[in-house]
Amino acid sequence: MRTHNLGYPRIGSRRELKKNCENYWAGKITLDDLLQTGKQIRLENWKLQQEAGIDLIPTNDFSYYDHVLDTSVMLGNIPLRFLPFVQEKKKSFPSLYFAMARGYQKDGMDITALEMTKWFDTNYHYLVPEFHRKQEFGFVCTNIIDEFLEARQQGINAKPVLFGPVSYLLSGKEKESGFNKISLLGALLPVYKEILNSLQKAGASYIQLDEPFLTLDLDEPVKQAFREAYSYLSNECPGINVLLATYFEALNNNLPLACSLPVHTLHIDLVRGNRQLDDVLAQIPEHMSLSLGVVDGRNIWKNNYDDSLRLINKAAQALGEERIWIAPSCSLLHCPCDLELESDETTLPGKVKQWMSFAKQKLNEASVLKTLSSPQLDEKEKEILLAENREMIWVRATSSLIHDPKVQARTASVQDRDFERELLFAERKTLQASLLKLPMLSTTTIGSFPQTKEVREVRSKLKKGLITQKDYTDAIKTFTEEAIHIQEEIGLDVLVHGEFERNDMVEYFGEQLNGFAFTQNGWVQSYGSRCVKPPVIYGDISRPEAMTVHWINYAQSLTNKPVKGMLTGPVTILQWSFVRNDQPRSETAMQIALAIRDEVFDLEQSGVQIIQVDEPAIREGLPLRKTDWAEYLDWAVKAFKLSVAVAQPKTQIHTHMCYSEFNDIITSIAAMDADVITIETSRSQMELLDAFITYKYPNDIGPGVYDIHSPRVPSVTEMENLLRKAMKLIPVRQLWVNPDCGLKTRSWDETIQALKNMVQAAKNIRKS
Ligand code: GLN
Ligand code: ZN
Repeated sequence: MRTHNLGYPRIGSRRELKKNCENYWAGKITLDDLLQTGKQIRLENWKLQQEAGIDLIPTNDFSYYDHVLDTSVMLGNIPLRFLPFVQEKKKSFPSLYFAMARGYQKDGMDITALEMTKWFDTNYHYLVPEFHRKQEFGFVCTNIIDEFLEARQQGINAKPVLFGPVSYLLSGKEKESGFNKISLLGALLPVYKEILNSLQKAGASYIQLDEPFLTLDLDEPVKQAFREAYSYLSNECPGINVLLATYFEALNNNLPLACSLPVHTLHIDLVRGNRQLDDVLAQIPEHMSLSLGVVDGRNIWKNNYDDSLRLINKAAQALGEERIWIAPSCSLLHCPCDLELESDETTLPGKVKQWMSFAKQKLNEASVLKTLSSPQLDEKEKEILLAENREMIWVRATSSLIHDPKVQARTASVQDRDFERELLFAERKTLQASLLKLPMLSTTTIGSFPQTKEVREVRSKLKKGLITQKDYTDAIKTFTEEAIHIQEEIGLDVLVHGEFERNDMVEYFGEQLNGFAFTQNGWVQSYGSRCVKPPVIYGDISRPEAMTVHWINYAQSLTNKPVKGMLTGPVTILQWSFVRNDQPRSETAMQIALAIRDEVFDLEQSGVQIIQVDEPAIREGLPLRKTDWAEYLDWAVKAFKLSVAVAQPKTQIHTHMCYSEFNDIITSIAAMDADVITIETSRSQMELLDAFITYKYPNDIGPGVYDIHSPRVPSVTEMENLLRKAMKLIPVRQLWVNPDCGLKTRSWDETIQALKNMVQAAKNIRKS
């Protein structure tokens, strides 16, 4: 039996890569400094994996920005617009690389970056490869060889990792019509052959090819592509042991396909697909080894050794020990680096911390599992190793920190009627209109206003203890006052308080709820140098006291216009946190929903007339397999409804979603029954509205009329045109006028100008 790892976080345990990349972009450090940092991080990662006793250690899992971008560069897939960087020799790396990642607006050039999209159902984003009909590939960037040699020099038993050819094609986008990206396989395979053979020449005996698309729904041409690719590589690269890595889901109906591919070892995810082992054991051919992904690469809980050993022993019995590998379920990229860096008892109590495990600790778990599976280990030693883990699992399972009987009783007593508003939308609408007296095409914003340097400064000063809580509150009051005055001056109809008191739309709520813990260094890469630090949901969730009422009431006291209450929805809070693995996600979602429900109730009691419950993450929670969608959508919609249905008919409930493709989930969006939904539509020129039109979406809708992702100020005419376009598609009495999303990342100057134009556009149309 052997252990291996699929990939290690590359940001550095203290986000060294992030800091160095940003400093490099800002011209504060040299290229050499940056490369040195990269080298150090790689070396550190390799060493700690070696020390943890991992037998085969991944190389080429490091990246300065994104591993899919690295693959594109390696394969010479450089879109034509980046030609200036290719031609000018000295500009090639890293100017070309970072231009592809971030775009380039300098020296009279304006080159857009590659598009970015979510990596399966994780919170990681990759840069989408672009394909053309006559696409050519070549082994252009040979970093993968250098990195392998670098590791070997350090005495590391290295296993190069590559994004597999079929998944690489599937992850990209055709930039011309009339061809299918899969048809490029023939052009791509010879390059993979060259890479694999070069790696072998350099001394690699095992090479990991990641094909996560094997866990998705596949059509026949794609299945055929897998067969073609792997039989080609097996013929053309004799003597190379390919480890085919699948993860994020079970193979399910693609299992026969995976088993038919001529590879040395198949890696399966036994955390997400924990029920697939029997089928795999029944179908795996005799020549193939099996890598068991038993250590959760996507969450932060300690491994349950007894559970893992049951799977490992079963597999070992069926296939024989020498065919078994032990590994994390997927790359550890999606985990924070090192739990030992956590020391703040107030945000992460030691009692919770002891149940957790980050990337570094997970490697150790894989290693211990190997030891525990060894027939040479005598029973006594085994018991000692197991006892500690069992004790911890038991302590967690029975801890009063986790189990709150009141919360459990409350979720159990939820009735069907708790999910439904008292009146139907049409009746609510009439009632709300008579109370709110808003004009046609009401104008509003999505919630946050610019988080300026000043806003961030007071927060960081409070954190460092440089100012008192009162100083902080006073400062936030001032920011809120300014925001209210500005909105009144602009002439918006429904105001917001600006969210200046919030660091983050999930963390802010998590910090005030029971059942949440927070890390100091638990960063996970989101894209490029951007990292997120998800809260940890460890126990039953409840709300000890009102969370937002004070600030909304304060903002409301400053104006006669209605101010929206502003909450984050249960699905988004769940989706952007590390969740407990001892109960279904749906159960946790219901607990959060009840906590938000309490807040909706309190807001309404305090006189708030409009409450927005943001659910930007609802779509990204969709399972990878279509067959699992209905179940998810059912509880996700229920969680939202449970959180808002306590509102009286007179209270107007808004929701907001961004980056959404609505076509295939519009029925569920409608089932949420929010009085108003605001969505992102400006970049697609209202195309995203299609779903709402075809469906004849009955409730009110605010299609974003300006793109908040860019500093550009759209003109009155531009927004008026977009609105008129929307009016042709959706009855005007259903329409609201708003930007695409929150304005947190913008500056005040642009914001004011753009909102003035937006209000003017609405006024022009009202007049006409
Ligand atoms: N209310 C939030 C804001 O304006 C919504 C953010 C989001 O949709 N991601 O910032
Ligand atoms: Zn948004």
